[in-house]
Amino acid sequence: MWSPKSYAQYQPIPSLHIRDFLVEAGPEILLFVIPSVAIALFYVSLFIPWNQNRQLRRWLLQNRRAVRQLLILNFTLKRLRPKLPGCSSCTAGRFELWDHDRNLLVFRCMNCRRNITVSVFQFQEVRQILNNLPGLFIVLRQLSYKPFDALGRHLQALCVETEVFARRYLRR
Ligand SMILES: [Zn+2]
Repeated sequence: MWSPKSYAQYQPIPSLHIRDFLVEAGPEILLFVIPSVAIALFYVSLFIPWNQNRQLRRWLLQNRRAVRQLLILNFTLKRLRPKLPGCSSCTAGRFELWDHDRNLLVFRCMNCRRNITVSVFQFQEVRQILNNLPGLFIVLRQLSYKPFDALGRHLQALCVETEVFARRYLRR
């Protein structure tokens, strides 16, 4: 089982700020228009020095569709977050992605454990997140297999936005 703490023991990934930019404010066009091959090549060339871990690069390129989906998922989740209502029970908690169904996402308040659901009919981001969940599952399957090698550490950093969801999945 991984956690941010265990991750913190490892070297930080270079250019994390560029990744943050890509994930947070990142140009939408980059994620939605450019095909996954280009995204993967761009991503790999940006974040992984050529002298570093061939296996890591190969996995990211082979699973470029999943990487692209995860980047879009992270980006969309960040856009959805501010639109979610605050927790009415404790007024302090932060909602984290908790579960999903065909047409809805469940978020849980990390303070009081209250759940809220949002559907595709409320926010267009919900559909986008659901459509891109398969990419997250591919990454999580790899993480459940080898969480702490170079690839695993890299993938953990990619899952920060969905950390609670990922931990639940990996516990199953
Ligand atoms: Zn709460």
